[in-house]
Amino acid sequence: MTDPARTVADRATAGFHQVYAEPPVGRWAAPGRVNLIGEHTDYNDGFVLPFALPLRTVAAAAPQPGETWTVWSELTGETVDFGAAEVTGAGRVTGWAGYVAGIVWALREAGYRVPGARLAIASDVPLGAGLSSSAALEAAVLAALVDLGGLDLPAEAQPRLAQRAENHYVGAPTGIMDQSAAIRCRAGHALFLDCRTQQVEHIPFDLAAAGLAILVIDSNAPHRHVDGEYAARRNSCEKAAALLDVPALRDIPTDNLDDALARLPDDETRRRVRHVVTENQRVCDTVDLLRARQIQQIGPLLVASHTSMRDDFAITVPEIDTAVEAALAAGALGARMTGGGFGGCVLALVKADHSDTVANAVTDAYARRGFTAPTHTTVTPAAGATRLD
Ligand code: ADP
Ligand code: MG
Repeated sequence: MTDPARTVADRATAGFHQVYAEPPVGRWAAPGRVNLIGEHTDYNDGFVLPFALPLRTVAAAAPQPGETWTVWSELTGETVDFGAAEVTGAGRVTGWAGYVAGIVWALREAGYRVPGARLAIASDVPLGAGLSSSAALEAAVLAALVDLGGLDLPAEAQPRLAQRAENHYVGAPTGIMDQSAAIRCRAGHALFLDCRTQQVEHIPFDLAAAGLAILVIDSNAPHRHVDGEYAARRNSCEKAAALLDVPALRDIPTDNLDDALARLPDDETRRRVRHVVTENQRVCDTVDLLRARQIQQIGPLLVASHTSMRDDFAITVPEIDTAVEAALAAGALGARMTGGGFGGCVLALVKADHSDTVANAVTDAYARRGFTAPTHTTVTPAAGATRLD
């Protein structure tokens, strides 16, 4: 069971002692993430701007003889063992330990000699809330194995490898954003990621210095039809790119948007394309404002992003729209859904001393609508994967 009075790192160590009756040789942490702006742009070869959360997953680890791996997670209380046979083919370890076996598999596929290891995992990242607990787990385990084995795998190459683990071993079709954020983010910065080239740039995003904070509100809305709707959006975008004769919608410049829309056959496709093209532009505009240290000016871009997701991309739900409207009415400088949609989280840019007021206003609005109460946390941008000790 989770004891909130102990830090996540202490819980990982305590778990390690309990399971293996010895101390770990080190502890490695990797964060969850939230996407500041840039939704459904990743598979259109576009831009995203995530930052790491202070909520982290910690792997306490030590070497283990031979090609054998043992992993325990506080979350399930389960210990799972696997050996070389389980990591010679994808998907052989199923369930949560598949994320760990997937990292071993992907390292071996890339030609690395992966040391046998025992691991104990604890996490403060909520699961399945859209804050990317899966990439945090992958990144913490990868960091531990790279250090234990003295593997020559630079940070730039790690997101791709973790993504391969999730796509091919676990079988979850995610883009490169989550792993890039968990591995490459820097404290006080957002990560400007070009999903086509995978180039990253660290953009100053020092909320505390600006007297601001980001409130992350979990809508607690049940996820509805997520997989089917996601596939449908992706399909619309790919078809539109083919009709417009470009490799991806990223290649439609904002200045040519009207011409492009005029060449599309129906209103729904036009709206989908308009979201992607304008959202890419909003990511770039947000980056420009952050570079100019004008964080408080990004509010309208966040609001425009939400409106575009609600009206053009049609991926919001009533709980999400209610949270955004209530946050703005209570004085948030900007608010938007973050993540793929149909549930998940809303983020609101607030004055640091105003975060409770905004959170309470959202809770009240939920009560009035009869929705399940939301949960919330205030965050500032944290660092990517790191060795703790
Ligand atoms: P998200 O990444 O948005 O939290 P996912 O469905 O991608 O949601 O990943 C959640 C899954 O990752 C969990 O169902 C579980 O299998 C695995 N996972 C994440 N963190 C842990 C953890 N600390 N212990 C065990 N499994 C975990
Ligand atoms: Mg995930």
